[in-house]
Formats: sequence, structure tokens, C-alpha cells
Amino acid sequence: MNDCGYCLLCASPCATDIALCTACRDGLPRIHQPCPRCAIPLPPSLPPGSMCGSCQIKAPAFDRCHALCPYVFPLPELISRFKFQGLFSSGAALASLLGTQLLPHWKIHRPDALIPVPLHPARLRTRGFNQSLELARRLASSLRLHVEPGLCLRMRNTPAQKGLDATERAKNLRGAFQIKDPPVRWQYVVLVDDVVTTMTTVNEIAALLKQKGILRVEVACLARVEAGRIRTDT
Ligand SMILES: [Zn+2]
Ligand SMILES: [Zn+2]
Repeated sequence: MNDCGYCLLCASPCATDIALCTACRDGLPRIHQPCPRCAIPLPPSLPPGSMCGSCQIKAPAFDRCHALCPYVFPLPELISRFKFQGLFSSGAALASLLGTQLLPHWKIHRPDALIPVPLHPARLRTRGFNQSLELARRLASSLRLHVEPGLCLRMRNTPAQKGLDATERAKNLRGAFQIKDPPVRWQYVVLVDDVVTTMTTVNEIAALLKQKGILRVEVACLARVEAGRIRTDT
């Protein structure tokens, strides 16, 4: 039973583990043709398996991104209720659906750890929780995966990324993260974030993880912003 007892979208009574009724779950927007590398929604006219232009020009530091939905209605509303209003049922519902999507993949390729994208301690104090850690815990639960929130630290409270282009975002984040030495046996980890926009943050952390000897880094997120759209910042 979910915490609220009703569907978060249509308010009908909903006594399942997930606070979204079956009709609203089935009605969530899906990315029918994701870029196999960065999960950005691609036009259906492209041949299946096509990579997006930016991954073809410069592949990201991570190996693959998994996204539950595109960042279109009702994702901004559901994520904002979780993140800014502390409605955990909303984050838990979306994380459960993402977990179901990832289960077949993770059963075959079991990650050594899930790593939430960290918040700066000052931001954490204001918000009271790190949304990515809450999502990672939920994602980890069905397969009892290891969640490691202490490996990646946010050293600088970077100015908001909103309104910056990709180059400015990369500059803004330089030196913002520090990675502790991972256990030597770790080869494959998954970074967890709520929304992936330009990939700057996850790309920066993935590059640092690879410098520390991690062979494969994937990303799991609730929503992937389509090209040309900018989200409200973390
Ligand atoms: Zn509903
Ligand atoms: Zn791509």
C-alpha cells in the first residue's frame, strides 16, 4: 500500500504499492526511440538503434543512460512534488516504475553499486533530503543492490545551471565533485539522478569514476529532457 491511498494524477482510490493507478501508469509518456547511449528521445523516422548527433560527435563519459520517461507532462509535476514539496510517494512511484524497467537488464548485468548524484551539504540542509539518494534506495530494493552515497562528494555549491549552455555548464561544474577511491573489485556502477538535462553533471562524475578505474558507468534517471528544453535546476 502506498502512503497516500489515492492516485497522484487522477485522485482515484489506489491501494497498490505505487501511488499511480493502472490507467495513469499506462498513460505516462514513454521514450519510444531513445538514443542507445544518452537516452534522448529521437525522431521515430530514424532507423532503430541510431545514436543522436551529439553522441556521434563526442560520446559521453558514461556508457549508457536509462530513462523512465521524457521530461514532459506529467513528469515535471510529479518530480517537483517529490523534490520541492517532499511528497515521497511521488518519487517512490516513479522509482518503482524505473526499477521494473531496469530489472531485466540488472538481472543480467548486476551493478556493483548505485551512486546517487550528490547535493552540496548546504543544499541538503535546505531541502532536508537528497532526492537522488531516495531514488537510488528505492531502485536498489528489489535486487538488494548496494547504494553508495559516500563515494562521490559535491565540493562546491555551484551556481544554478539553468540558462547556461553546455560549455558554460561544464565550466561551472569543473572541480565541483570529488570521488573517493572505490573498492578495487568494483567494475560497473550506476549513477542515479532525477532528471538528466544536458548530461553535464552525470558526464563529469562518470569521467571521474572512470579515472578511478571503474570500467563501466551507466546512468538511471526518471526523466530525460528532450533537445532544446531546459529544466528547472536541482
Ligand atoms: Zn490515476
Ligand atoms: Zn545520444
